[in-house]
Amino acid sequence: MEVFTTIAPLRAALDSLRQAGRRIGFVPTMGCLHAGHMALVREARRNADTVVVSIFVNPAQFGPAEDFNRYPRVFESDAALCAEAGVDFIFHPETAEMYRPGFSVWVEETELARGLCGARRPGHFRGVATVVAKLFNIVRPDVAVFGQKDYQQARIIIRMVEELDFPIRIIIHPTVREADGLALSSRNRYLAPRERQDALCLSRALRRASALFAAGERDAARLRAAVAAELAATPSAAVEYIEIVDAENLAPVAAIARDAVVALAVRIGATRLIDNAVLASA
Ligand code: AMP
Repeated sequence: MEVFTTIAPLRAALDSLRQAGRRIGFVPTMGCLHAGHMALVREARRNADTVVVSIFVNPAQFGPAEDFNRYPRVFESDAALCAEAGVDFIFHPETAEMYRPGFSVWVEETELARGLCGARRPGHFRGVATVVAKLFNIVRPDVAVFGQKDYQQARIIIRMVEELDFPIRIIIHPTVREADGLALSSRNRYLAPRERQDALCLSRALRRASALFAAGERDAARLRAAVAAELAATPSAAVEYIEIVDAENLAPVAAIARDAVVALAVRIGATRLIDNAVLASA
């Protein structure tokens, strides 16, 4: 495994592999890697010959009051996990390598990014789309893997690739969970033990929605009410949103006629958690 902190040598190494006919798989991350990230790495490995993981806490996707400064940075243990998983290259740039002073060009998706987290985190998805576009141009992967955990992000990246003609296949990998249901997240380490317990309300509420859906419920208001009731049973859970949206265009739906997603953002103490479940009609 090789670690690159600058663009030019990474490009040179990837160019020669590409010329030798190797397919490149890419997993962009912000580090503090967990089993969810590693599942994405394995998926990349199944679909490519060379696997690149980027580890970059992207300042452009954090709001001024968000956790950019305290976001966990644990490069040594991340690198050990990557080596163990057979990652070929890590790209771990400093901010200055990615954004020169006065950086002024942005990639902004303007439809899917409007609701859900986009409505509550202004500029977030512009920061995500911009850094992912840059990383795609640096790595030039054949395939890139994203997690369903960040459902809106994954749909925005798919839309960006389609509309800006990136020749990259995007794979969305299902959310990896702890045995008790909590979706793995780098931010879970902010949770105190009591909060960790309370955080189970998200996956519990989603399971409730999925069970009702499986039993034939198609009315979004009733599904939403059941999710809200489940979350309300945990007093420390402050709901930011509960939404039921079309799985592709992310528009709110009233009656579910095709694939939909229940998406949640909930604060447990100071920690904002998101999770979702796909309600597949077929
Ligand atoms: P992050 O480091 O949080 O920016 O996440 C990097 C990638 O890992 C994104 O594509 C996430 O959607 C994905 N990811 C994060 N948590 C999980 C999880 N629990 N299961 C599957 N993928 C995940």
